[in-house]
Amino acid sequence: MFKFLRVPEKIFGLVMWLVSLAFATFLIGLGGKVVADLPRLGDRVTIDDYVTPRDALPALRSELRTLEPRVRDAATRQQQGRLALDSARNAYNAARATHQNWLATRTATTDPSQDPEVIRRTRELDELKSRERQAQVSMEAIEREQLDLAQRADALRVRESDLLRDAQAAFQRAQFWQELRVFGARLALTLPLLVIAGALWARKRGSDYWPLHRGFVLFAVFTFFVELVPYLPSYGGYVRYTVGVIATAIVGHYVIKAMRRYLAQRQAAAKQSEAERRHALSADAAVKKLAANVCPACERAVMTTDKAPANFCVHCGLKLFDECGNCHTRKNAFFHYCPSCGSVGAGQTA
Ligand SMILES: [Zn+2]
Ligand SMILES: [Zn+2]
Repeated sequence: MFKFLRVPEKIFGLVMWLVSLAFATFLIGLGGKVVADLPRLGDRVTIDDYVTPRDALPALRSELRTLEPRVRDAATRQQQGRLALDSARNAYNAARATHQNWLATRTATTDPSQDPEVIRRTRELDELKSRERQAQVSMEAIEREQLDLAQRADALRVRESDLLRDAQAAFQRAQFWQELRVFGARLALTLPLLVIAGALWARKRGSDYWPLHRGFVLFAVFTFFVELVPYLPSYGGYVRYTVGVIATAIVGHYVIKAMRRYLAQRQAAAKQSEAERRHALSADAAVKKLAANVCPACERAVMTTDKAPANFCVHCGLKLFDECGNCHTRKNAFFHYCPSCGSVGAGQTA
């Protein structure tokens, strides 16, 4: 589209776009900072805040936490107790085996001088048996403690899940309002931007400061899609689809209006005289359209029959080509100067 513009115009056009983009980028950065500093808006509500009574859950959890080291400690002591019990039991079993061998010898030899020794060894065996029993008892105590701890922890967990279940309804309500609040705040920030952008788009297109206004429009569009759309509450898709329907209706309304305006212009142009229409056209735009083989006035294709020169639009009668008044070269009727001899002014009808 830049083909028929002068070179500096092309460069200025490009630079203006860069200005628009840079302006939009800085505005987006600034807007991001503002949104990030919004007071406490992003805080997510948690279900813990809706447990009643309020201090029940922390108390319960801290008790669970104090149980944990005791459970670990009991497990360690259980292992140690089991080792002690095993070694006591082994010691007793070994001593009893020796004792039985010894008794067998005593019965075989029937030597009465050995009786005090029998009594001593029996006492030793009793001593070992009582140690094994002690180990057994302390082991049972540890296991009872473990069972108590496990039961208490289970009861606490059941109570915790009961509390959380009771808080569920209130939490969901709070979540709903939180989403709505966040969306409302973002809408309050974004809506004025969108309104201003719409006004700029409608009023300022083509003005000297349009590149800056265009930057602002880009910023507003970006903000809409990034800062607002993702925060639309869904409500099962109702809001999203409703917004889609409204947006499409608005866009459709403006497209239809623009098309009607364009058709009306073309109809009005068709009623004007050839001279009036020629006068209304800008020479640059006309040269551009004619180079694309399109009539500058009615925008339909330039046509002709066989080899007849296409001097007039066959649809609307606009003069497209004429002859230089000086050298009679056939030329574009919108050229300011004759391309052959350079003489000024409108040529004669070919
Ligand atoms: Zn035409
Ligand atoms: Zn000429």
